[in-house]
Amino acid sequence: MESLVSAQSLDLVVVGGGSGGLACAQRAAEYGAKVALIESHRLGGTCVNVGCVPKKVMWNATQVAAAIADAQDYGFDVAPGEHDWLALKGKRDGYVARLNAIYERNLAAKGVEYVAARATFLDAGTVEAAGRRFKARHFVIATGGRPIVPALPGAEYGIDSDGFFALEQRPDRVAIVGSGYVACELAGAFHGLGAAVDLFVRKDRPLTHFDEMLGEALLREMRAQGIAVHTHVTPAAVRKSRDALALLATDDREFEGFDALLWAIGRRPNVADLGLERVGLRLDPAGFVVTDEFQDTDVAGVHAIGDVTGRAALTPVAIAAGRRLSDRLFGGAKDRRLDYDGIPTVVFTHPPIGTIGLSEAEARARHGDAVQVYRSDFVGMYHAVTARKPRTDMKLVCAGPQQRIVGCHVIGAGADEMLQGFAVAIRMGATKRDFDDTVAIHPTSAEELVTMR
Ligand code: FAD
Ligand code: NDP
Repeated sequence: MESLVSAQSLDLVVVGGGSGGLACAQRAAEYGAKVALIESHRLGGTCVNVGCVPKKVMWNATQVAAAIADAQDYGFDVAPGEHDWLALKGKRDGYVARLNAIYERNLAAKGVEYVAARATFLDAGTVEAAGRRFKARHFVIATGGRPIVPALPGAEYGIDSDGFFALEQRPDRVAIVGSGYVACELAGAFHGLGAAVDLFVRKDRPLTHFDEMLGEALLREMRAQGIAVHTHVTPAAVRKSRDALALLATDDREFEGFDALLWAIGRRPNVADLGLERVGLRLDPAGFVVTDEFQDTDVAGVHAIGDVTGRAALTPVAIAAGRRLSDRLFGGAKDRRLDYDGIPTVVFTHPPIGTIGLSEAEARARHGDAVQVYRSDFVGMYHAVTARKPRTDMKLVCAGPQQRIVGCHVIGAGADEMLQGFAVAIRMGATKRDFDDTVAIHPTSAEELVTMR
């Protein structure tokens, strides 16, 4: 049976209940707007269900594994034992299910109507879901993205990051194709929990979109740990024999003997079947929804936030864009918008990476000779007594006569927790002199960032 919610009854309809959609809907409701949020799968979206949250649980597990491996060096009578992957998955899934329920309760508490269904636009002012039609003053598209699986023969034998989180047991030999966040993080998760990992990258190192130092240092550390990183491999096909998978490269090289193969070559936007052709808004060539600096599409009253817009696909970015949009539309903050410059980010590798701002190459392209770079690399004190000797690498990129810090890049233990505070200072315009004038905290790795010469 179809009911019609009249144009006056809703202020906002949000399509997608992930990081961005939830934040946008709840902020609007706090201002008194009448809001409906439509979600076709599980509340929380990618981050909560198949992204940041379960990934961080796996990263934490590998941190525990590393601590057990180091324990004897610290005088403990413990030896690494077997890891129960399924037991960890059970606890992880339980945590995610608790979060799903918390999100649903939060929507109810804020008075947001939650519609558990798939949404389709009928026109620029009407969305259909669960057999109902929703009209509103504003619509927000927050449908996120999904992993890309390449159109290659045998590609279907591989899994993607969603498949990683569904695994009930750890494969013994894993091939990972890709060189970005997901490939590097999941290579670490598999390896840290006991799998033999082969990572295949197309270029000379992983993380080519970051400062060169980070990719080079990660390559060094991965290889030192025993991850086989194969450079200059462009995949051509996957072949399945009775008991193993093989990856074939375009130059005819063949890598065989894998129990699982994971594609981690990027994500594409969730726009299929959304009826966007009936809205008339613009998509870029990769299918991402084109928005201006205020998250507005070129159709009045239709906005888009988060991964579906193809800009800095990170949870806090989707949240910040969604909240600021509601501040502007319903909170009277006319010029409120997200500044996409200077977004800090962490890659949860082993060791982790924290980075903000321009790479050295970007800074030189933008500021030429006015760039000054400071570097430091060392073995952190924790490893003074351990057999493992992972190194920490740091770089400050400064520009102009004031040596304003325009980039800060760290790979090493603690980098994940280190960057947030430095990001505040850097966004406020900190100079090298400000860093030098800050008294160090000793003994830490972070102190190196304020003592570089
Ligand atoms: P999503 O969270 O993807 O939510 C979109 C929602 O829309 C989904 O729930 C989907 O079901 C729903 N939807 C789609 N179409 C429809 C429709 N037609 N009708 C109704 N609902 C629909 N970011 C970080 O900041 N830190 C991390 O550590 C991190 N780790 C990650 C690890 C992995 C493996 C992955 C894949 C991503 C990770 N990210 C991380 C990125 C982060 O998950 C995303 O940037 C974030 O989830 C984007 O939020 P969003 O709201 O734009 O989209
Ligand atoms: P990314 O865009 O980060 O990296 C994918 C990389 O794979 C490309 O940059 C490219 O690197 C390589 N690649 C692309 N196509 C191919 C191909 N056909 N064959 C082989 N290699 C290929 O994508 P991810 O899937 O890793 O992650 C998606 C996004 O999710 C990230 O960009 C990030 O925004 C977010 N994310 C954030 C995390 C965090 O905050 N910690 C964690 C996980 C994801 P190259 O050009 O060097 O070959």
